Amino acid sequence: MRKFNTVKTFSNNPALDERRFLFEVVGISNQGSNNLDYPIRQSGRSFIAVPYSRMNQEMNRINRLGGKIINITPIGINTPIQGQGLSSSSNQTTNTKPMTQAQEKKEVKVPVNIYRPKNPFVGKCIENYELVAEGGSGTVRHLTFDLSGGDLHYLEGQSIGIIPPGEDERGKPHKLRLYSIASTRHGDKLDDKTVSLCVRKLEYENEKGEAIEGVCSSFLCGLEEGADVSITGPVGKEMLLPDEEDATIVMLATGTGIAPFRAFLWRMFKEQEQNPDYQFKGLAWLVFGIPYTENILYKEELEKMAKEYPDHFRLTYAISREQKTADGGKMYVQSRVSEYADELFELIQKPKTHVYMCGLKGMEPPITETFTAEAEKRGINWDDMRKQMKKEDRWHVEVY
Ligand SMILES: Cc1cc2nc3c(=O)[nH]c(=O)nc-3n(C[C@H](O)[C@H](O)[C@H](O)COP(=O)(O)OP(=O)(O)OC[C@H]3O[C@@H](n4cnc5c(N)ncnc54)[C@H](O)[C@@H]3O)c2cc1C
Repeated sequence: MRKFNTVKTFSNNPALDERRFLFEVVGISNQGSNNLDYPIRQSGRSFIAVPYSRMNQEMNRINRLGGKIINITPIGINTPIQGQGLSSSSNQTTNTKPMTQAQEKKEVKVPVNIYRPKNPFVGKCIENYELVAEGGSGTVRHLTFDLSGGDLHYLEGQSIGIIPPGEDERGKPHKLRLYSIASTRHGDKLDDKTVSLCVRKLEYENEKGEAIEGVCSSFLCGLEEGADVSITGPVGKEMLLPDEEDATIVMLATGTGIAPFRAFLWRMFKEQEQNPDYQFKGLAWLVFGIPYTENILYKEELEKMAKEYPDHFRLTYAISREQKTADGGKMYVQSRVSEYADELFELIQKPKTHVYMCGLKGMEPPITETFTAEAEKRGINWDDMRKQMKKEDRWHVEVY
């Protein structure tokens, strides 16, 4: 019997992503099948259609379920899956029709709402550590949850929902809060079984001068290892990373807005071995806004990557309480946009450049203002340009 451990297929051909493969599997039963609805035939064999991008994940899952893949054959992208006696490994994936080929490629691969609020997945916290160094402002924690025993999978740039325990002031169960996923699809342990977040504890004073702490962020930041967490999702298609390996990815982040970019950068520079179908050869440029040096989240790893990949990763900080602009103002992300406007406008006119913005809501208006002013200097109408980029799926904003 042939043994299929990992996908050795290697191609630079983007069409490969659209291909699917038929796994012939023996030895898995419907019991304990991790929410998978595999049709098991009398003979004990089942057939599962798997998109190329999920082959490794699917193999791992089949192994976990004690199954054996006895054959893999390529199938055409137009081969119907649902209702044809075959099961799809992405049967909880949206698939709205009609779609263009480009859309289909993207839609087919994006998992959404595998777990909903009425039936959340209960994961375990396996890691919770502080990201703000001594002397920095506030509390931001890196959290990792174990997803074993479930079917929660996701892509870089998506978010998950967390339902905090307890009730609100009206006696109703708390509503979920969304958090951007900070890990790649493989998870921090590289076993496709975890998801990580980067969470700031919300703390403020109300009008009466009372110290208030956010419900969900405080719950998360205070989680003990081993504690249960109700998770929903994943959701979100706004912040997905394009498949092109030679794309230019401009990332504008403030604070915890780094989360999806951590996932992007880890995928690009730290997990090449896990992603034979994605070997980044483009340029990633992160402009990261924080108040103090001590607030630079994931500082060591970011700087290590910038050092190791100087031709592919550019790291620019905007440290508002420490750095000054040329005219003596505070250095914010938008100040860096102004400073590098020539280069940025040169880049964003190229069809393979994507701009992403993530962080607190307040970051969007000043950045928009700066782009508008800089575009105007170059005789460009920013609103038109941004709309065009959005149409081309090259302008991505997630602020909260
Ligand atoms: C798509 C998306 C992704 C997100 N990703 C992240 C992430 O990666 N990391 C992260 O930390 N957060 C993220 N958030 C924010 C997160 O969902 C929560 O909103 C945040 O953690 C606060 O929730 P909470 O339950 O702690 O606060 P709550 O108890 O819900 O309190 C929030 C409320 O407090 C009030 N409030 C807040 N600040 C003040 C103030 N200064 N003065 C007066 N009133 C105030 C407002 O009414 C606000 O609605 C994301 C949000 C979205 C929509």
